[in-house]
Parts: sequence; structure tokens; C-alpha cells
Amino acid sequence: MTVARPGRRATAALIDQHGRVATDLRVSLTDRCNLRCTYCMPAEGLAWLPGPGLLTDDEVARLIGVAVTRLGVTEVRFTGGEPLLRPGLAGIVERAAALRPRPSLSLTTNGIGLAGKAEALRAAGLDRVNVSLDTLSPERFVALTRRDRHAEVLAGLATAAEAGLGPVKTNSVLVRGVNEDEAPALLRYALAHGYQQRFIEQMPLDAGHIWSRERMVTAAEILAALQAEFTLLPDPAERGGAPAETWLVDGYPDGAKVGVIASVTRPFCGDCDRTRLTADGQIRNCLFSQEETDLRALLRGGGSDEEIAARWQAATWPKLPGHGIDDPKFLQPSRPMSAIGG
Ligand code: SAM
Repeated sequence: MTVARPGRRATAALIDQHGRVATDLRVSLTDRCNLRCTYCMPAEGLAWLPGPGLLTDDEVARLIGVAVTRLGVTEVRFTGGEPLLRPGLAGIVERAAALRPRPSLSLTTNGIGLAGKAEALRAAGLDRVNVSLDTLSPERFVALTRRDRHAEVLAGLATAAEAGLGPVKTNSVLVRGVNEDEAPALLRYALAHGYQQRFIEQMPLDAGHIWSRERMVTAAEILAALQAEFTLLPDPAERGGAPAETWLVDGYPDGAKVGVIASVTRPFCGDCDRTRLTADGQIRNCLFSQEETDLRALLRGGGSDEEIAARWQAATWPKLPGHGIDDPKFLQPSRPMSAIGG
């Protein structure tokens, strides 16, 4: 499909067979991570993607350019793995910020090393960050991430807010028997620091394939725990394709919100506007896809921007109506979240 925009040349859209249009691009910059969150990666033994297979900075920048200037993408989120481990991150951000129309640029990170990089990323053109923070306890942090780096995450958060990378969002996954009681405390912490708290239901994307619906902490449980302490009011803001359902927190300053990303119990696939590029140049039209489309081979084989755009459109068209987690035939993708890009 082609969308005509006034005063601009016609842009092809990333439209699927169910009429959804992808405008939000998630770019995984690496599958490597300096944490080993139990619900995401194994303790050890996950092979990294081979170096030559990873897109170079120039290749990533070119594909983002195709997405923005030819395919109508308006938001670019850098993720991984841990995107701060990518040496060329600031340069990639800078090149994306120079595109016209300028996309909004955000980063999903575990916060380690952010304290030393936030200013430079802001200067490069990054607009905002989401930082994963599952617990306020350094001991629980070790249990969840298998690394003792909690203080670095809190420092990264504070520096990001000071650098103006806001609204800073804190993302938390609650794990039964580890941090399931922390929803109110995490929200209190976020409100006290001016961050926006998001809770994410655990999804079947762990490297060990041990996710179970029975053990997962549900949105309903999270909301019940929050409502015991806070009054949550419906958020009048348009949700659009946003994964989080949000509430205003009564009694706190304007803009104090909490969100729940209930991918499993309240799926929002009907409004999905996302497309994903892995660090090795594969397009996924859904987190849970069983199929990928190779843009790297086309890119390295001399494909033109027009050909790349056409292949990206073709990869988008067959997107399924939903992720199908509830279908008895559901198959977890072979790549874990760390290699897809969360
Ligand atoms: N390393 C960065 C970070 O920690 O935010 C970016 C990548 S990480 C895969 C992105 C987000 O996915 C994090 O908030 C993480 O908690 C979440 N995540 C990872 N595995 C998940 C799972 N199985 N279910 C739900 N969320 C998951």
C-alpha cells in the first residue's frame, strides 16, 4: 500500500493482511548482555551470534533510513541483548536523528553503564529511555539477574533523568517466589523519582523454555496488589498501539502513571504497530514469529533501498492476527528474547 502525505513524496507503508500498519521499529543492536535474567537467558552456554553475521553500524543505519524514509516508520527503539554494549550506539542514534521526517528515538536498557553514557546519547539525539528494574533489593537483583550490579542500574536511572532522557520508564517483570510482592514498592520508588513504572507479564521467551502460565504473575494480580495501596484512575490518553495499558495514580502530580503490559492475559495484538530488526539483519513481524525474513543477504548482495523496502513490506503482509500463546499448537520461538530484541 502507498500512503500519500501532503507535501512529501508517496511513502509505502508496512501494512499487514489484517490492516495493521507498523510504524514502530525495534532494532536489536546485539544479542549480548551483561546480565543473565532467569526469565530471559540461561546461566551460561548461550552461543552469541557470530560477529561477521552482525549488521555493521553502516548497515543498521541504512536499514533504519529505509524504514523511516520509505516505509513510514516514525518511532525507533534500540534494544538487544543490551544495546549499551554496542560500541557504535551513539553514532547510530546520531544518524537516525538526522533522518527526515525525524523519528522519535528511544532505548530499552538494563541501565548498566548508562550513568557514563546518558549525556552523550542525549547529545546524539536520543529522546528517552526505558530501564529494566525488577527489584529494589540488591540481594534479589542477584537472584534474578545472576549478577551483582544493582547499584549501577540505579545510578544509570538517575543520570538518565538528569540528562533529560524522559519520561524515564522503569520496566519490571515479576517472578513468582522471587519479587512478586514488590509491585507497590517499585511503583512508590518510581513515583518518588519521577519515573513511569511499567509491569510486564512474563512471556514464553526464555532461553530455557521453562515458562508456565500457572507460575506467571498476572496483570490482575499486579493490579490488585497496587490497588491495595494506590487509587488508580483510568488514563484518558489514547492508547493507540502502545503495549502498556496505563492508569493515573490519584494523589500524585499530573502525569504520574503506571502501566501494565499484559501480553499474555490481555493481548493487544489487534493494535500492534511494531516491526523488528534483529542484530543479524532479520525482520520479524511479531515477537513470537516462527519465521524471519533476511534483509542482510539482500543488503550485502547489492540490493537497492527500493528492493529492501519491498522485501520488508512482503515480510509484514503475512503477520498473524495474534501471538497465539493460548493456542494448544503454540510453539515458542527458537530465539530467546535476548536474540530477538525485547
Ligand atoms: N537489556 C535490555 C533491558 O534489560 O531492558 C533490553 C533487552 S530486554 C530483552 C528488554 C525487556 O524485555 C526487559 O525489560 C526485560 O525484562 C524483558 N524481558 C526479557 N525476557 C522476558 C520475558 N520472558 N517476558 C517478559 N519480558 C521479558
